[in-house]
Amino acid sequence: MSRKIIKQNSPLSFMDCSSCGARCCQSNLIYASLYDIEKVTELFSLFFMIQNHKISLVYFFYYGEKEGEHCPYLQNDLCSVYEKRPYACRSYPFSHQSSSIYYSTTCPHIVESQESGMKFIEDKKINPAIFNDFVTEDFLQKQDDVMKKSEEFVRFCNQNDLLIPYEKFYAGKELYMNFKPSMQKQLYCIHPFKVAALRLSGKKLFEGKGYFLSIIQKIIAAQRNIEKLYLKSSL
Ligand code: SF4
Ligand code: SF4
Repeated sequence: MSRKIIKQNSPLSFMDCSSCGARCCQSNLIYASLYDIEKVTELFSLFFMIQNHKISLVYFFYYGEKEGEHCPYLQNDLCSVYEKRPYACRSYPFSHQSSSIYYSTTCPHIVESQESGMKFIEDKKINPAIFNDFVTEDFLQKQDDVMKKSEEFVRFCNQNDLLIPYEKFYAGKELYMNFKPSMQKQLYCIHPFKVAALRLSGKKLFEGKGYFLSIIQKIIAAQRNIEKLYLKSSL
């Protein structure tokens, strides 16, 4: 995640990433969007998270929960999947929510505040040079559409009962990642059998939703790949 210095005319300034030890790669979860699903699904396990009775976004998770654990793709403080890294990594320390832009105050090289958590940046104050350096032009052009579609996709899966609690689906299988127990309770995954049964029964759920079906298939395939990888590594 090496980056160059960003300059001028902003209430925020950003140093380079060289001396921080890749702090932003130490988290055990990151947010995902349909942009990620299309590009990087094979790299991460993908789930839905329900908090306060609300299903909001799709997430990628890392395995670790102990101090010092980090993203499995971090090598010598550099991202080994740089070209395929998720949007959250591309844009960090910036993020969007409802077309507002935030920055993470846990990044030590954004200078302005020591508070933890996210801090809102008023649109008029942001220096586009900072933000544009962190996200692809491709994403900037499509971001509203991507965000809208991502929300619609999550709603579609939830309303059509395609999700199953993570704990229930993996109960007794003695595999999978060492998520914190409290986190596991909030996790849902797509139930492959439900999707298969729906397709076999000829239910017209996916009519006009071929795009969602292709996304669901990718998620299920990734789920299986990651299970295989995990089983191999724990033998
Ligand atoms: S936490 Fe900030 S300074 Fe450190 S690697 Fe990430 S973006 Fe760069
Ligand atoms: S994918 Fe790369 S940039 Fe993202 S958390 Fe992992 S190592 Fe860091």
